[in-house]
Amino acid sequence: MTGKNTLSVEGIVILSREYKDADKSLVIFTKDRGRMSFVARGVRRLNSKNRSSTDLLVNGEYQLSKGKAYYILNQGQVIEGFMGIRKDLLKTSVAMTITVFLNDVLVDNMVQKEVYELLNWTFKRLGTTKDPKFLLRYFLIKSILYLGHQPRLNSCNICNKKNQNYFYQFSEGNLICENCNREGFFVESDLIKLYKILETDNFDILKTFVITKALLEKTDYFLEKLIEHITDKKFTGFDYLKKLTFEV
Ligand SMILES: [Zn+2]
Repeated sequence: MTGKNTLSVEGIVILSREYKDADKSLVIFTKDRGRMSFVARGVRRLNSKNRSSTDLLVNGEYQLSKGKAYYILNQGQVIEGFMGIRKDLLKTSVAMTITVFLNDVLVDNMVQKEVYELLNWTFKRLGTTKDPKFLLRYFLIKSILYLGHQPRLNSCNICNKKNQNYFYQFSEGNLICENCNREGFFVESDLIKLYKILETDNFDILKTFVITKALLEKTDYFLEKLIEHITDKKFTGFDYLKKLTFEV
């Protein structure tokens, strides 16, 4: 039932906070309207029928009505709870990192269908994958592409030479090779190669490409700096992963 002051949206909960005595304040990434916020009244009571649809990471269908200052949840229904993520601490941390990223980059009411579909696919895949952190890197790199912030990683911006070590300049979004300049963030050719493989879904190359732990750490650091440059704020998403000191 949707009228003048009500609407029905499909979305994924990317922020869920306690609000007042028994309410929650939520941010969802919707399929058709981008980021939206609403208040869910009484959902922290055990007998609330809308309780499970307001959990973080849930993909649900939400009937909202427009209040004076914000939308209010009338009814919520779980489409997919992504239980495969919830029973695993590393997978949960990867999902949390993704929600922090989305809260930082998404804008209210700006539709981002490709990112939405990617998120839905990623959460499904996360439940079964053996390499959650690799899936996280894939999600971040593809999202940055879909959001129109992809770094220019093809060749040196001055001499146009390819396939060497570079310095990346975040302010310009450009690569400068080590012959032309020695300032900026040093990126070896393997980091560019890995980034491009993930950005272009060119997974065949992975079979013949040795990915070291050091390269993955450097890639994560590059992604962190890239996201900070896009959002103009400190990216805290990776903190969830850094806290997992036992990881192999
Ligand atoms: Zn150059």
